[in-house]
Amino acid sequence: MELNYVSTRNRADQKTASEAILQGLAPDGGLYVPTEIPKLDVPMAKLGEMTYQEVAYEVMSRFFTDFTEEELKHCINSAYDSKFDTTEIAPLVAAGDAYYLELFHGKTIAFKDMALSILPYLMITSARKNQIKNDIVILTATSGDTGKAALAGFADVPGTKIIVFYPKDGVSDIQKRQMVTQKGDNTFVVGINGNFDQAQTGVKKMFNDAEMKNDLDAAGFQFSSANSINIGRLIPQVVYYVFAYARLLNSGEIEEGQKINVTVPTGNFGNILAAYYAKNMGVPIDRLICASNKNNVLTDFFASGTYDRRRDFYLTMSPSMDILISSNLERLINLILDGDDKKTAEEMKKLAEEGSYSIPKEILDQKIADFYGGFASEEETAAEIKAVYEDCGYVIDTHTAVASAVYKKYVDKTGDKTSTVIASTASPYKFTRSVMQAIGQDRPELSDLELTDVLSEVANTEIPAAIVEIRDAEVRHKTICEVDEMPKVVREILNI
Ligand SMILES: *Cc1c(COP(=O)(O)O)cnc(C)c1O
Repeated sequence: MELNYVSTRNRADQKTASEAILQGLAPDGGLYVPTEIPKLDVPMAKLGEMTYQEVAYEVMSRFFTDFTEEELKHCINSAYDSKFDTTEIAPLVAAGDAYYLELFHGKTIAFKDMALSILPYLMITSARKNQIKNDIVILTATSGDTGKAALAGFADVPGTKIIVFYPKDGVSDIQKRQMVTQKGDNTFVVGINGNFDQAQTGVKKMFNDAEMKNDLDAAGFQFSSANSINIGRLIPQVVYYVFAYARLLNSGEIEEGQKINVTVPTGNFGNILAAYYAKNMGVPIDRLICASNKNNVLTDFFASGTYDRRRDFYLTMSPSMDILISSNLERLINLILDGDDKKTAEEMKKLAEEGSYSIPKEILDQKIADFYGGFASEEETAAEIKAVYEDCGYVIDTHTAVASAVYKKYVDKTGDKTSTVIASTASPYKFTRSVMQAIGQDRPELSDLELTDVLSEVANTEIPAAIVEIRDAEVRHKTICEVDEMPKVVREILNI
């Protein structure tokens, strides 16, 4: 069966999967969503015997119906190969009374690799299918991890260029070093004097700039997005929730049909939305626990139905979650509103112009009672890293710790003892300073990179290749600009 995609703000704008992947953001500013969420018609027990790549094919082939089997398998096998440091791709680690789904075994040791290692292949295949002659210019705003993962995915891929904007003072030292040392003649990295939301808004503006689009076209370029708004990012993330459930079943940790909860450290709402898609495909997931840091706009939304971005913005030790506008939430809003594009567009206009919108509480309770929002303060996050380390000898990163802390608060509050999978979104080696401070082993005299040696001893794990590589790498990208100079910088890079 053919599955099509429509914009959340205009259902008349129908696209095939490959068209939606190429387009990224819809012309009306909306996000592409499937007209329905397909059912997973393969028994869980059977999925439990499959490799990650095989499960990926079962899931993605239900969504990307205009890809041939050969095309899709080529994309999957090119993405999930020895770039990952474990053949399992996404291992589950039992610690305490939860299962940590480690999504950080790819090239940049954070979960964005799960989708960004396949996106370039999906995009090139989509371009070929749609007779695109232009070079594709990936334009991305990053809160730290997307940038490097996208750069690593697209570096030296023929027919593409990639331009990444990051908040100059809003990413960790290691994140910054990973980006500014990126190799590849088609890669460009630019720091902005602003925060992530400003970078993201600047990128969205360029996507909607008709004059820029014409100039690009004349020069043989077109924009596409690697941000989590691209449907080609979202769908590959559904895979690991299916995989995790199937593995738990296969290893006898749960029984056929038994429900699990998932807890996801959330920023732009892509990862947890993927879990919701998995649930709607038929994976027995009961509650989706949406964990935020001190920037707890989503916690308030799930409690009250009001999304209000007019609030202070905090820089925290989990920078990839320092977000006030969770773009992917628009897809959930559209689902809650039964696909009503006019209403979705209205609410998003309110968000842009007035800074907030509200969904009536009855609708919230009726449609998404399975979501639970919670948040962890900086102190709670640090205490959780320490507690998990002391209780289990397992070192988790700051983002995972937010989820882990919120999960424990949830259990305390509700008494719900359902088996729980916690999405572990980054390696502790990526946020070494905060992690070592939390477990009381900070060594201020050492640099962040030097501190990874100490972490290696403490955690009794090997330093990942991603860290070893950047230690002596040359800094190749030095451009810094103001927020309103972003279009100018892009024009300079592309010579238009
Ligand atoms: C991006 C990111 C998140 C947030 O994921 P979303 O899909 O944006 O909600 C959480 N943790 C880490 C380490 C990340 O890189």
